[in-house]
Amino acid sequence: MGKFPIADKAIFKVRICKRCKARNSLRALRCRKCDYPNLRPKKARKKETK
Ligand SMILES: [Zn+2]
Repeated sequence: MGKFPIADKAIFKVRICKRCKARNSLRALRCRKCDYPNLRPKKARKKETK
């Protein structure tokens, strides 16, 4: 948990495409950008590349 609980909560609703790093909704089965099916949940880390 970080300083901002709301922000932390929001970050867990995101999944990152392993191929193009696009952010997708947690329920997304495929990347909305490149249609890649392999998404990973975003981790609440400070070390995040944008
Ligand atoms: Zn993608």
